[in-house]
Parts: sequence; structure tokens; C-alpha cells
Amino acid sequence: MKKATALLKGRSAIVTGSTSGIGLGIARAVAREGADVMLNGFGEAARIRRLCEELAAEFKVKVGFSGADMSKPGEIAAMVEQATKELGKVDILVNNAGIQHTAPVEEFSVEKWDAVIAINLSSNFHAIRAALPQMKARNWGRIINISSVHGLVASGTKAAYVAAKHGVLGLTKVVALETARTGITCNAICPGWVLTPLVQNQIDDWAKRDNIPVERAKDLLLGEKQPSMEFATPEQIGALAVFLCSDAAAQIRGAAITVDGGWTAQ
Ligand code: NAD
Repeated sequence: MKKATALLKGRSAIVTGSTSGIGLGIARAVAREGADVMLNGFGEAARIRRLCEELAAEFKVKVGFSGADMSKPGEIAAMVEQATKELGKVDILVNNAGIQHTAPVEEFSVEKWDAVIAINLSSNFHAIRAALPQMKARNWGRIINISSVHGLVASGTKAAYVAAKHGVLGLTKVVALETARTGITCNAICPGWVLTPLVQNQIDDWAKRDNIPVERAKDLLLGEKQPSMEFATPEQIGALAVFLCSDAAAQIRGAAITVDGGWTAQ
């Protein structure tokens, strides 16, 4: 349902990796607040088209789509150009696209390392680099990088992911300092477990490996790290992203905000 007051009316956003999971939750949240939005990510063309139409109809905003591959710098620059053309400008950039790969470090495939670093870290740099000049010209912008609790602490078998997510927090701080005297802020969100396809795959792997029911694997996954024993939701991450876009958050700069059910309090 469309809201009576739209906090982000007149703003335009890109949310990378928004055909699923957390990115879709964020895209829905900013659209709900009146922002035009460009979706990005992989998936079946007809499903994505439907998604765009549904979002546009539900929230009465412009919704575009870019299939840019976040491992390709040229395609990332083209996505920012396309959004600028189709939505008029880019005020809000949410760097969310990400992949996971797990293996002990000595067995970690070099190709997977390169892919995780490219999609989870370097894409943030390329998108920020492309979008920042126009934000500076208007002296307003919001850059939100989706890091992870794995930007703050580590887990075994996730060398590339943990390295990339720590890197995202470093990049976030540098951009926040470089924009500190402007109307542009740059912050990171660090989710713990959120039940999305990315995490469902890890639960399914666990269930298969230990030959246990999926529900049991879910409990074990939460019990290992997340004291609340509950998943965070894409809607909760979306609501935080909207807050970071608000005037109330204008002096939150270079922060890494956890939404992790207590994971990093331990
Ligand atoms: P997801 O698998 O549900 O969604 C990932 C999205 O990224 C999809 O839209 C997919 O199409 C897109 N994508 C993947 N590779 C891409 C590429 N090369 N180019 C463009 N798009 C690409 O995953 P999710 O759980 O929603 O994760 C979103 C972000 O949140 C990731 O950065 C992830 O690391 C982070 N995160 C997730 C969790 C969690 O528990 N789910 C926790 C912490 C951080």
C-alpha cells in the first residue's frame, strides 16, 4: 500500500542485487517511501519484468532494471549511466549484490576468490566512483554498502567473503571522510543471518552434509552464532536503509551498523 507521507519522494535510487533477498527488501522499502528505483541482478527475464511492474504499480514510482554484472567495471558504470538517464539522477546508491563461497583457504579456488572480491568489494568501488560526481554536484547523496557481521568478525571457510566484507568497511570509512563536509553520507549495514536464498543454500548444504532435517540445520546455524535465535529480515534491513537516507541520519557517517541478533556482542 502507498504511504501517506513519502520520505524519499523526488529521490532516485540504485539497489544492486535487488532481484532477490535483502536487495529486494531494500528496493521495496525505498520505493514505499516514494523513491524511483533501478533494480539490478540476475534472474529470469519475465519474473524480473513482473517484479518491476508490481513495484511501480504498488508504490506509484518509476522502476527501471539493469542486468549489469557486478563483476564487470564497464557494466557497473553503464548501470549508473542508465539510471541517470531513465530516472533523471542517482541520489541513493545501495551496494548490495553479493555471493558466497566456502572452502578451507588452501583449497579455495582462485576463480572463486576473484569472483567474491570483484562482486562483494570491487563493485562497491566502481559504483561509488561512477555515482559520486553527480551527488557532489547536487550536494546530496546517500551511499549504503551492505557489508556483514563478517566485515567485523570472521568465520572459518569464508576467506574471500570475510576479506571482501572487511574491505567494504574500509572503503565506507574512506568515502565517508572524503564526503564529510558535504550532504553525502556513506555508511555500511552489517547483517547477521537473514533468511534469503544465499543463506538457504548454506542451510541446505548443512542438512545434506550431516544428513539432518532442514529445520534442524536452521536451528544449528542460528544457535552457532546468532543469540536471538531469530533471523533478521529483508524488511528490517530495508527500514534501516530508509532511516540512513533520512535527514535524521545526516550525521551518521562512516558507520558500520549491525542488525545481527547479538552475533557480534559475544
Ligand atoms: P541473495 O542471493 O538472495 O541475493 C543476491 C542478489 O545479488 C541477487 O539479486 C543476485 O541476482 C545478485 N547478484 C549476484 N551476483 C551478481 C552479479 N555478478 N551481478 C549483479 N547481481 C548479482 O543474497 P542476500 O542474502 O540477499 O545477500 C545480499 C547481500 O547481503 C550480499 O552482499 C550478502 O553478502 C549480504 N549479507 C547477507 C546476509 C544473509 O544472512 N543473507 C548476511 C550478511 C550480509
